[in-house]
Amino acid sequence: MRNAGISIVEHGELRAADLVAVREQLGREPTIPFTVVVRCTGGHPLVIRNAPVDPDGSPFPTTYWLTCPDAVRDVSRLESDGGIGMLNERYDADPPFRGSVDAAHAEAANDRARDLPTARTWGGVGGTRRGVKCLHAHYANHLSGGDDPVGGWVAERIEPVHAGQRPGRIAAIDQGTNSCRLIVVEPPRDPDDDPSELARDMVITRLGEGIDRTGRFDRDALERTLAVIRRYSRRARALGAERIRVGATSAARDAADRRELADAVRELAGSELEVITGADEAALSFLGGTRGLDPRAGPFLVLDIGGGSTEFVLGAQPGIADEAISTRMGSVRLTERAVHHDPPTADDLAGLRELAAEGIAEGAAAVPVQRAETFVSVAGTATTLQAIALGLGRYDPDRIHRTWLVAAEAERLLDLLASMTNDERAAIPVMAPGRGDVIVAGAVILVETMRRFGFDRTLVSETDILDGLALETLGVR
Ligand SMILES: [Zn+2]
Repeated sequence: MRNAGISIVEHGELRAADLVAVREQLGREPTIPFTVVVRCTGGHPLVIRNAPVDPDGSPFPTTYWLTCPDAVRDVSRLESDGGIGMLNERYDADPPFRGSVDAAHAEAANDRARDLPTARTWGGVGGTRRGVKCLHAHYANHLSGGDDPVGGWVAERIEPVHAGQRPGRIAAIDQGTNSCRLIVVEPPRDPDDDPSELARDMVITRLGEGIDRTGRFDRDALERTLAVIRRYSRRARALGAERIRVGATSAARDAADRRELADAVRELAGSELEVITGADEAALSFLGGTRGLDPRAGPFLVLDIGGGSTEFVLGAQPGIADEAISTRMGSVRLTERAVHHDPPTADDLAGLRELAAEGIAEGAAAVPVQRAETFVSVAGTATTLQAIALGLGRYDPDRIHRTWLVAAEAERLLDLLASMTNDERAAIPVMAPGRGDVIVAGAVILVETMRRFGFDRTLVSETDILDGLALETLGVR
């Protein structure tokens, strides 16, 4: 565990283009570190999530901030029409309403405490403990996935904020062994275009903790995960998603008690949990990882290093997998099996290499890997290694997506990361909280794959199974 601090937001994703957009929306330099939570049709930021303190350490209690100028204007109109006074009268006179507003404040305080535990005492939505102070803060909280009756009241009165919104919005959740990720998209106007992205998020909950040993979900891990799925599902509904598809991979395949996850998903997302087979996982990763690449660069090999499994997928054309295998080799599984010291000893690393060699041999036996002209790496291990290789001070997916990572650099980074403690790795600015302890195992899988097949570079892709799930749901190929 890292030290108490603003680690999560400091480590958050931020695209340079979004920083420019938010600067324009606010009409000033943003003073607090932030990430973009949801977007409008067209892609501009709608809600940002602020760090709980500014760079000088002063408290900043408004976690979710509405930035789209049109939405801000519409909410301001509700305020100037007396909305706040009316809602506070109702708050005083209507106990059930008061109870649900107080619950929204308590939930918001807990959500802020995710970044900084002591910030729980700073109040709820917009930094207040009771009543209604700012409709913008409540609406932003609602859009982020807060259970907020005031935010919902605002939504009913101002949406749609933009006229150009297209029907058919959908959400997909990729529940992996290590991470839980969300995407919400609007269908593209032209089927060859990319869908318009309304939200994308990742929280590492380590659902697969201990599953390799016990074959069952760890209670705390399941609870952490369901809390994230709950908030994702509300965010998706707030954005008008007509369907929330939840796909779970290796951890759910391995857990004897996966029914418990399925029951919770039905309740939270309103859909049946899809336990994705290794073959389907491979096909979806390939779709997400290669769509839009130049067909002349094929055949393509996609390597998807997950927490519990790694897929080797070959296809002659972008988007269409021809041959694939899902191996039970993953960064969490290998770490739990082979890493017994912090930092890992030479023996630990030898154990990782041995396990990786077994998985890679399995991959090579099933898939004619050598046929690949372009080697594509997807998922957090590869993208994080590339973020470090590029020397990024913050995680900017636009800087990482479809850039080359050369083998010598991957090997150098593996040596560097393997020499560091878990805390030191966790403190790297682009390292997502919860990845620092397993990235060495993931890097071993990548490096050993490149060595085994003689790839001198890999094309790192930010798009993967999550995008594949969304594209398939939209019927876009
Ligand atoms: Zn907007």
